[in-house]
Amino acid sequence: MNDPDEGEAFRDSIGTINKAGDRVWVYPKMPVGFFYTLRKWISFVLVTFLFVMPFVYINGRQLFLFNVLERKFHFFGTPFWAQDFHLLVIMILLGVVFVGLFTVAFGRVFCGWICPQTIFLEFIFRPIEYWIEGDRGAQIRLDKQEWNFEKIRKKVTKWFLFFIISFLISNIFLAYFIGSDILIDHVLAPLENIKTLLSLLIFTMVFYFVFAWFREQVCVIACPYGRLQGVLLDQHSLVVAYDYKRGEKEVGRAKFKKNEDRESSGKGDCIDCHQCVNVCPTGIDIRNGTQLECVNCTACMDACDEIMEAVKLPKKLIRHASEDQIQKEESFRFTSRLKGYTVILGIFILGFIFIITSRSEIEATLLRIPGQLYSISKDKNTIQNVYAYKFVNKTTADFNNIELKLISHQGHIYTANHQSIALKKEEIQDGTFFIELDKKQWKGKKLTLKIGLYNGENLIESVNTQFLGPRTYQ
Ligand code: SF4
Ligand code: SF4
Repeated sequence: MNDPDEGEAFRDSIGTINKAGDRVWVYPKMPVGFFYTLRKWISFVLVTFLFVMPFVYINGRQLFLFNVLERKFHFFGTPFWAQDFHLLVIMILLGVVFVGLFTVAFGRVFCGWICPQTIFLEFIFRPIEYWIEGDRGAQIRLDKQEWNFEKIRKKVTKWFLFFIISFLISNIFLAYFIGSDILIDHVLAPLENIKTLLSLLIFTMVFYFVFAWFREQVCVIACPYGRLQGVLLDQHSLVVAYDYKRGEKEVGRAKFKKNEDRESSGKGDCIDCHQCVNVCPTGIDIRNGTQLECVNCTACMDACDEIMEAVKLPKKLIRHASEDQIQKEESFRFTSRLKGYTVILGIFILGFIFIITSRSEIEATLLRIPGQLYSISKDKNTIQNVYAYKFVNKTTADFNNIELKLISHQGHIYTANHQSIALKKEEIQDGTFFIELDKKQWKGKKLTLKIGLYNGENLIESVNTQFLGPRTYQ
């Protein structure tokens, strides 16, 4: 008796590991076609963006900087501080929900079209490999043949170029972390900056390992987003899908025969040419259905369209479609579900923009000085509390006339030197100030005061703080 799960047996293991547990090397055929060309252009734009951005400065600041060690972050040239950590948490949460919803609605588009791993591998490293070693067949033959001058020449040239590109990529990544100006200084004097040199070499070896050897295993084994696919996708999700109804029909897939009336023979439109499998960078057969290895790169769509065109059958046997659409034989519709998700995603993007743009210009921390309760003036008409302040100017502008004013109560605020505070761009300043309340305002228990931080007449930030006094007050 046949095992009912036999047809799903491929799901028990990943396509790039054989039964003995050894790696099955993937030799994808060089893709050509509409989607590949489109991806090539998108990759070109993204790689250019990645390589150029560390060298773009606005008002003397790197456009994007993620200096974790010194806790300096620039986003579109705007400095962010450790004090903005809550924004980071909110952005990460928004990002996670965004990615989740996006995947539920539109599948793993990010992996095939935007992920740096795919872009570097498919549009930088793999083209070099095709250029030096040839297409799929030539690469297989080269790997099988004995080591001779030709093989050594090709392999060494490829490995050398891979190393150089890995080194370049590690430089770019480091420029995002320590700043391109510092990186250039360090690269020009490597022996005096041995730590930077070591970091570069370690990054280079990691990139080399990933792109020369580990490759699709990143997407198949290591990437947590790939692992989440199983729970995020459902029968409504838009994915790269094989139309098994059309491809198999009543008789199943069958090789192409010239002048055969395929329509009346009951054979499916799939001519079992294996081009969709040969071209797949993760080594799977999309005709088995949606699999976690699939990165939605659309290479199989291009390959199948080319074949369908050659045998004069309608294109899109493999296309973007949901399981539901394939089963019900519907063409793609922008369903109310997709519309709903798109609206929610739009709201998230607006929320993200709002969070970034509504960030306060000055971060103010006001705390009562520990151990200091309160003091009463000699004439016994006022109560005083002493506070410590810390201001962080998160902007690129100077604030020369900062004053603290009581918003919620009548009273006075003054600094130790009775002067307003000047806060230069990106400066952090701390000091002491006093709040003095008239005894009429005191009701015998702790007060919550609202204090405004003004630059001239402009309210920049408001902060609440506590005010203490005696229980009984004559
Ligand atoms: S490329 Fe198209 S026709 Fe060829 S095997 Fe794949 S699905 Fe079938
Ligand atoms: S199955 Fe198709 S879309 Fe998925 S990874 Fe392979 S070639 Fe790309």
